[in-house]
Amino acid sequence: MRVRCPRCQTWTDFSPVNRWRPFCSDRCRTADLGAWGREDFRLPARPPQDEDADDLLG
Ligand SMILES: [Zn+2]
Repeated sequence: MRVRCPRCQTWTDFSPVNRWRPFCSDRCRTADLGAWGREDFRLPARPPQDEDADDLLG
C-alpha cells in the first residue's frame, strides 16, 4: 500500500518497514509535528477582562 506523504506529497510505503509513515522521512514527520506545535501558540488567549466581568456579575 502506498500513500502520499502529507508533508511533501511524495509517494511512500505505508507499511511497518516505513517507520515514518504516513510521512516519507524523518524530516517530513518532524516538520509536520513542528507545524502542529506552532498552531498551539496561535490559540487565542482569553483576555483577563472576562474574569473581571464574571466577578462583577456574581
Ligand atoms: Zn515527505
